[in-house]
Amino acid sequence: MQITDLVTQYKEISQFLNSRWPLKNDEHRIFARTMKIMEELGELSDEILTSMNLQRNTKIAKFSQQNIEDEFADVLGSLILLGIELDIDVEQVMKRKLAFTRERFEMDSTDS
Ligand SMILES: [Mg+2]
Repeated sequence: MQITDLVTQYKEISQFLNSRWPLKNDEHRIFARTMKIMEELGELSDEILTSMNLQRNTKIAKFSQQNIEDEFADVLGSLILLGIELDIDVEQVMKRKLAFTRERFEMDSTDS
């Protein structure tokens, strides 16, 4: 899956969310999306703590790698949803950031 496909699918999800749970304006949607990232980061953190046996035994007993993967995906998805609300071209900004990072670490540049 390409990043553009991912964003396209999340644009559809964003339209659904905005019609199912309409918010007052752009600011409220950006605030809600940002809070959702925090919620999902908390859930990912919970799963990581569980994987390290740093949670209650009842949680540790339910641990699975798929739970971490699902929460990782929730974080990424919620970030993309915020990017949509902020009118960010995710593919473009990631290309720019990767080029910057590669240059900073004096790595060879890539054509992609
Ligand atoms: Mg989640």
